[in-house]
Amino acid sequence: MIKRYIMAPGPTPIPSEVLAEASLPIIHHRTPQFQAIFKEANEGLQFAFRTKQPVLTFSSVGTGVMESAVANMTSPGEKVLVASSGHFGNRWREICKAYSVEVEHYEVEWGQAVDPAEVSKRLKDAPGIKLVFTTLNETSTGVANDIQALAKVVHEAGALIVVDAISGLGAMPCESEAWGIDLILAGSQKGFMIPPGLGFVSLSPGGVEKTKTAKSPRYYFSYDKAIKKLTEEKMPDTPFTPAITLVIQLKKALDLIKQEGMENIWKRHASLAKATRTAVQALGLKLYAPSAPSNSITSVNGPDGVDTGLINKTFRDTYGMSIVGGQGKAKGKIFRIGHLGYVDGSDVLLAIARLEMVMHKIGKPVPLGSGVKAAQEVLLAENL
Ligand SMILES: *Cc1c(COP(=O)(O)O)cnc(C)c1O
Repeated sequence: MIKRYIMAPGPTPIPSEVLAEASLPIIHHRTPQFQAIFKEANEGLQFAFRTKQPVLTFSSVGTGVMESAVANMTSPGEKVLVASSGHFGNRWREICKAYSVEVEHYEVEWGQAVDPAEVSKRLKDAPGIKLVFTTLNETSTGVANDIQALAKVVHEAGALIVVDAISGLGAMPCESEAWGIDLILAGSQKGFMIPPGLGFVSLSPGGVEKTKTAKSPRYYFSYDKAIKKLTEEKMPDTPFTPAITLVIQLKKALDLIKQEGMENIWKRHASLAKATRTAVQALGLKLYAPSAPSNSITSVNGPDGVDTGLINKTFRDTYGMSIVGGQGKAKGKIFRIGHLGYVDGSDVLLAIARLEMVMHKIGKPVPLGSGVKAAQEVLLAENL
């Protein structure tokens, strides 16, 4: 028997009460029963996004709502700035290209965070740019970007900021409204603790204004249609059939999120990340992103001479645990342990204990228990 564990930055583990919701008979979406659930889910999303603005729900993976942002915010031929720190940040450039949007690309060295001063400089040098795309948590490198500082310099330049918060929302402070983020988006299978299939988008009033002059084509992903259905009828609604079961699971997961509270959720993720970082370093491994480490995921350089694909494979095939490897140019060089969503100290201890055993299996033995001990010490100090 192999028992399965998931320590990836999405999909993430799902609480059993959330899983159970998916086993109930389907209900119709144009009913008071579903509408009441959708209304509560919307309020929960506003709680999680820290905003009083509406949060749109699309039946889509994260990349779909990224595409929706480009479709609703840009016009063909418009020039925008993409400020990226890895694979997912670079996806903004690819989507913009597909919409014939011209991209000024500022990409930092992988493992580093986007520098607000450089963004400010690039906007000064190209005053025609009125839109900046970036990422809260760069999942591919395990880097957290300083969105508060980025929003500030972007606004000072008279531009708007679009933030992919897919793997960061929930794991670290992110104040959509207080920081004035003009468009923020997230996905269901990361911090929201439900399966893949829902994407969320929230706009500032300035962001909504921009969608009205933007000319890129959109149909399913029209924010105008979605906002009207959500806000202009007696009960919140969607223009098309929503992924009903996922919305019901979302409502349940948001109940748990509200119970714990955003500050506590951020604190738990910070403690889990600290325990993970301390443990891998105690094993003699080096962090890939030591200067701006993420709370959702810890990226680690593989031991010398080891393709990290072997580490993932051993985790998965020998111990039933899914972690993730490197993407793009970090493929084979790093491995990444997710600690996002429905994760606690026990999960991290298990992952570190298995990592020690994986190191033995791949011929790079470490003193057994030394990483676990380091993690336990952090968890004791952090009360987790
Ligand atoms: C996972 C992820 C995405 C892509 O989400 P999909 O649901 O796989 O399309 C985009 N951006 C970031 C930062 C992510 O972590």
